Amino acid sequence: MSISVSRPDAVVVGGGAAGIAVVGNLLETLRPDSSIAWIDPLFKGGRINARYREVPSNTKVAFFLDYGTAVEPFRKIAETASKPNAITALQDLPEHDTCSLHYAGDMLQMLSDGLLKHDRVVSWKGTVVDTEWSAPSSKWSLTVQDDARDETQNLKAPLVVFCTGSSPTVAALPSPMSKTPPFLDLDVGLKPSLLAETLPRDQEVYIGVVGASHSAILVLMNLFNLARDSHPLLRVRWFSRTTQLKYAVDKGTWILYDNTGLKGSAAQFAREHLDGDRLSHSKVGKVISRVDCSGGPAQEKEAMLREMPKCDYVVQAIGFTRQTLPGLKHNVKLDNETGALQESEAGTPLPGLFGAGIGFPERVTDPVGNVEYAVGFLKFMRFLKRVVPNWVKIIIK
Ligand SMILES: Cc1cc2nc3c(=O)[nH]c(=O)nc-3n(C[C@H](O)[C@H](O)[C@H](O)COP(=O)(O)OP(=O)(O)OC[C@H]3O[C@@H](n4cnc5c(N)ncnc54)[C@H](O)[C@@H]3O)c2cc1C
Repeated sequence: MSISVSRPDAVVVGGGAAGIAVVGNLLETLRPDSSIAWIDPLFKGGRINARYREVPSNTKVAFFLDYGTAVEPFRKIAETASKPNAITALQDLPEHDTCSLHYAGDMLQMLSDGLLKHDRVVSWKGTVVDTEWSAPSSKWSLTVQDDARDETQNLKAPLVVFCTGSSPTVAALPSPMSKTPPFLDLDVGLKPSLLAETLPRDQEVYIGVVGASHSAILVLMNLFNLARDSHPLLRVRWFSRTTQLKYAVDKGTWILYDNTGLKGSAAQFAREHLDGDRLSHSKVGKVISRVDCSGGPAQEKEAMLREMPKCDYVVQAIGFTRQTLPGLKHNVKLDNETGALQESEAGTPLPGLFGAGIGFPERVTDPVGNVEYAVGFLKFMRFLKRVVPNWVKIIIK
């Protein structure tokens, strides 16, 4: 089939779990003669493969498999692939258990490779650096920088989906501090092999960990394991507002605190060693001590000013922030129900511009009224199955 490479029907920016799911859904929903341009600097499954392959998953194996078989193009990739492969490797694991994220990352790579070979997908290895509305053509005009070849390309399409992800939030530390420790990237804290290389083995080193999120607990777990196994002089100060941690609770047909509660091995570690006054009775308490940041902003600031200068590094595990949208002249906000992007001041829709994935999560309300943002492979997929048929109406008039 011959397709116009510079004037596709839709453009998907980003090749992580969300971008892969969007391409799969668009292939299933758009007309068979339509084309999709797909842009990513690497096409290696996004941040899961780049940073989190050593992280234990917080979702069950079955959910990764449900994602990997949710749309026809994915099923075709699995059917035609030689075996064993990344999907059969997941199928060999107990489906109700969690797993190392490298299994999920391998599945993303397999799906990504399969989609790149699809005859309706045109891939552009590069980074979108500019996005502009082109009034005469009623299309979005994207500039793609191909770093390897030092070239830029332009493409225009009526439908553009940003799946550009997010990165760990970094906040300024309180001041004035007698000595401000350097930040240690959260992603380093989440990768035991890199953490082991980064921190000295034979020298006293104090790490401050800020937060009580799922990521914070994983970092505490990694640091404790390191102190136990190879870095005996490593010590941790845990800056936490609470000792009562929040856990996801399986309610049979739904999960309470599905997106904000601790799950999997992080939940197990927290229950056994961190919750309430457990730290004081646990072997973990010999490595990790809690700095009480409860009581409000003034008390937190005072605790940080007092204790943080004693740290050699600080890891902030306080959430994730959406990557800046490339080159958009508008300040943009997301309609978390539909994935549509709008001008943030006036709320005017930006026709044909959408977002999906961790940077653009769906807002959900659970049966007891808790409002959360839905982040996870299968959650992205379910959201896309609902909204993509509406997104493509801009093309199928
Ligand atoms: C520590 C951690 C553990 C997690 N564990 C799980 C889990 O167990 N189960 C689960 O279901 N979910 C999990 N998630 C949530 C979620 O599934 C992942 O965050 C996932 O990586 C999000 O996918 P994404 O496609 O939205 O973003 P990303 O994976 O970040 O992908 C974004 C892609 O966009 C590309 N990009 C960015 N800007 C541009 C640009 N301008 N031009 C072109 N390309 C661009 C990037 O290079 C990247 O490839 C976890 C998240 C974190 C942070």
